[in-house]
Amino acid sequence: MTHFFEQNLSLLKGVTPQRLSLLQSELQLFTFGDLIQYYPFRYEDRTRFYKIREIQEGIEHAQFIGRIRYKEKIGSGHKQRVVAEVTDETGSMEIVWFQGIQWLEKSLKIGVDYIFYGKPNFFNGQLQMTHPEMEVFKSIEQTEKAYQPIYSLTEKLRKKFIDSKVIAGLQKNLLAIAFPYIRETLSPQITQKYKLISKQEALYQIHLPASEAWLHQAKRRLKFEELFYNQLRLVKQNLVRKNSWPGQIFASSELLKTFYHEHLPFELTEAQKKVIREIFQDMKSGQQMNRLLQGDVGSGKTIVAFICMLLAIDNQAQACIIAPTEILADQHFQGLSKFAEKMGIRMAKLTGSTKKKDRVGLFEDLANGSIHILVGTHAILEDPVIFKNLGLTIIDEQHRFGVAQRAKLWDKNKVIHPHVLVMTATPIPRTLAMTLYGDLDISVIDQMPVGRKPIQTIHRYDSHRLQVFGFMQNEINKGRQVYVVYPLIEESEKMDLKDLMDGFESISRAFPDAHLSILHGKMKSADKDYEMARFVKQETQIMVATTVIEVGVNVPNASVMVIENAERFGLSQLHQLRGRVGRGADQSYCILMTNYNLSADTRKRVETMVRTTNGFEIAEVDLELRGPGDISGTRQSGAIDLMIADISKDAEILKVARETAIEILTEDPDLAKEEHQVIRQQIALQRKDQTNWARIS
Ligand code: ADP
Ligand code: MG
Repeated sequence: MTHFFEQNLSLLKGVTPQRLSLLQSELQLFTFGDLIQYYPFRYEDRTRFYKIREIQEGIEHAQFIGRIRYKEKIGSGHKQRVVAEVTDETGSMEIVWFQGIQWLEKSLKIGVDYIFYGKPNFFNGQLQMTHPEMEVFKSIEQTEKAYQPIYSLTEKLRKKFIDSKVIAGLQKNLLAIAFPYIRETLSPQITQKYKLISKQEALYQIHLPASEAWLHQAKRRLKFEELFYNQLRLVKQNLVRKNSWPGQIFASSELLKTFYHEHLPFELTEAQKKVIREIFQDMKSGQQMNRLLQGDVGSGKTIVAFICMLLAIDNQAQACIIAPTEILADQHFQGLSKFAEKMGIRMAKLTGSTKKKDRVGLFEDLANGSIHILVGTHAILEDPVIFKNLGLTIIDEQHRFGVAQRAKLWDKNKVIHPHVLVMTATPIPRTLAMTLYGDLDISVIDQMPVGRKPIQTIHRYDSHRLQVFGFMQNEINKGRQVYVVYPLIEESEKMDLKDLMDGFESISRAFPDAHLSILHGKMKSADKDYEMARFVKQETQIMVATTVIEVGVNVPNASVMVIENAERFGLSQLHQLRGRVGRGADQSYCILMTNYNLSADTRKRVETMVRTTNGFEIAEVDLELRGPGDISGTRQSGAIDLMIADISKDAEILKVARETAIEILTEDPDLAKEEHQVIRQQIALQRKDQTNWARIS
């Protein structure tokens, strides 16, 4: 027998064949289950009737009863409109229509009371409403007073008169027959402890809320459920991994002591010490480490990585570090060589451009263990790369790495998987990290090395470009270097490339004495490396580039980052780009160039950048502005496929849901207890659901 919620929507009262095909094609709703989980995205409060006098500025939407005193058609052609004056006993309002003029002239009745609902605005101090919803008012008894659900719909649906009311009607028909089939998905212990309403009640109230209070309870319950199962899955993965994957045990080490006492070039920050302690604990625990190390650009992740590698090496293991590009692999190699040489540690580099003849010896030395640290790119993942005993893998700049590649890495040591440390300079708000990387442990370096001058960020309009050029010239005269970055977004690639070239031209003209580098994604890899190397060696003073320079390159002498068309960049990208400067002892600057017309969101992005250099703060604003779907790296994870919860707003519920998941799995890892059978069943159902979906889509 088909499960109730798997039944085809064609079986539902009110679903005509035409509606059916539209619901399928426009909203991907096929079954009863699909429909009931198609939640409204907002509600209109139709419980309250305003008096006209009460409608003040700042009220989003208002419903009122008014009588039409007067109407008139004015203007002609495009400007044609109908204007009416509507009154109640407290005041009057002007209502304007630009469409449906013929119909209005015919049907709008003077002297009749209507219920209006719409967005009030104040035009020259005069209260006005444009295109309100309206219907003739009969009597208070005959008026439905409710929270009206608003569903997200497409233009095509609206054209066929399928609006939110129609969807709400279908939900009502469905709920009328679905009640006995709605399973409770949370255990009574949970619903009681957190005072959550039942699933039945929640589904009813989410579509047809009886009051604001009920609506709140319905949302709370459904969000909790969603986040709870999300966390349950992640926490379980984490526990399973910990229990089933042993890790090599790395005890304390002599090498480390030598390094600390004789070679450490600076005092570690407290934050660095803290994360090293956390990582060491994992590496000594006997269980495989899977840890995410977050730290803003310049917070000093490299030295942390090196210290952890020392621990592995001193325990007869090898380590590797994987970077997303050759340039970055080079930089790690050079940066770490300084330390490694002093410690008598042998390092090697492997990238796509490592010559065949060099590979042979390198592979041999890796296999016999005489190379201690391998630095490289994805090339490290290839099959011929075999270690004697890989104990620690460090992945730099996580967002360029897929899950499959991570798995490949694990297999580099068949007997006991290597410990894995993923480093990222993309700060992720804690709530998001919990949802995305709930299966990784997280360490955060939340402090910058002392003595660094915060980057000054300045917003300039395009019309001030000459002044900005003057400022750049000053810095160049002082011996500094400058980046000028242009957006390059795929859809408009050609246009953007032209922008970049035009920019390059005008900079060449404005700085006749300077040497320029240019860097963009369409260049061959070797050419890119060549240009980058010239800039690193200070042979060029200005680097004109697209966002290819976003990731990790370190040129401490560069003190100015000019970002052209800054309005076209997301916040986290702006922050990443800014991180390219401020790496030396000198004061650095980031200049955001925009045109005059900025949307509210853009203004907020620019203001945030000017106000703070704290990556976590920026990430929070980013999450708030864009929602989680767009934060880098989240899309492919699938973890963010939430229907009702919003991790940028529901942090509190997420926290409790996670705690609950941990509590339950710690106490009853296999969900064997009687009281957890509901949860077990739900997981099984979800799994089945997912495979169904995989088949359909
Ligand atoms: P990121 O976290 O961006 O990878 P790096 O590891 O490249 O940062 O460090 C940035 C710079 O700060 C490097 O030049 C590094 O030597 C220096 N640095 C790291 N830790 C400290 C510290 N505790 N005190 C002073 N300088 C430090
Ligand atoms: Mg780095």
